[in-house]
Amino acid sequence: MTAQLNARGDVAVLVPAAGSGVRLGPGAPKALRLLAGEPLLVHAVRRVAAAPSVRMIVVAAPAAEVAAVRALLEPVAPVVVLAGGAERQDSVAAMLAAVPADVEIVLVHDAARALTPPELVESVATAVRDGHPAVIPVLPIVDTVKEVGPDETVVGTVDRSVLRSVQTPQGFRHDVLAAAHRAGLDAHTDDAGMVEKAGTPVLCVPGSDLALKITRPLDLVIAEALLRVA
Ligand code: C5P
Repeated sequence: MTAQLNARGDVAVLVPAAGSGVRLGPGAPKALRLLAGEPLLVHAVRRVAAAPSVRMIVVAAPAAEVAAVRALLEPVAPVVVLAGGAERQDSVAAMLAAVPADVEIVLVHDAARALTPPELVESVATAVRDGHPAVIPVLPIVDTVKEVGPDETVVGTVDRSVLRSVQTPQGFRHDVLAAAHRAGLDAHTDDAGMVEKAGTPVLCVPGSDLALKITRPLDLVIAEALLRVA
């Protein structure tokens, strides 16, 4: 059954999935890799759609895959699927252009964080609504972190108490994300990085173990186990 989105919600969630590695069919990497028989993108969109504040979900797909991705997501939730751009930030900019001006909060998500719970989507959106222009979910670093030189010799030990591991969705006031994209500061950073370079404070909120990035084969095993208990 297709989940209904909240017409009175104040949040749009953008999911860039237009990387050239994205293909439908067997062996599909990244967003369309299968987890328990369904593409990561389907898992991700289903959970985003279950967040009560979400009015709109936009997915960027490779131009040749737009129709197929639309058909894939049609039974999951009402989603706007459009063609992405050359770089990830071009895809985000294209999705941002599809968000009506009266949607005040925009979240940028990652389909590879397919098990991100709706509660995390809500907590990021709530922090933006409460007055923070940019919000990222983070976890503490559990490993000891070393800085190494070119020859793999340790240069020093980093104080991990000041470090955080960053997840998605990253949340922004609509105007703040739009301004950062107009400024086109650095195409090679994440969205919070662009906003941060523009001088906007970025607030960290607690992330979730369920929002792990499913990239390595081991992550798929962990994610399948999490699906059985979560
Ligand atoms: O290639 P990379 O790992 O940086 O991609 C990160 C995310 O951005 C992926 O989900 C990918 O599909 C997406 N992307 C995009 N448009 C591009 C390049 C990447 O939406 N032109």
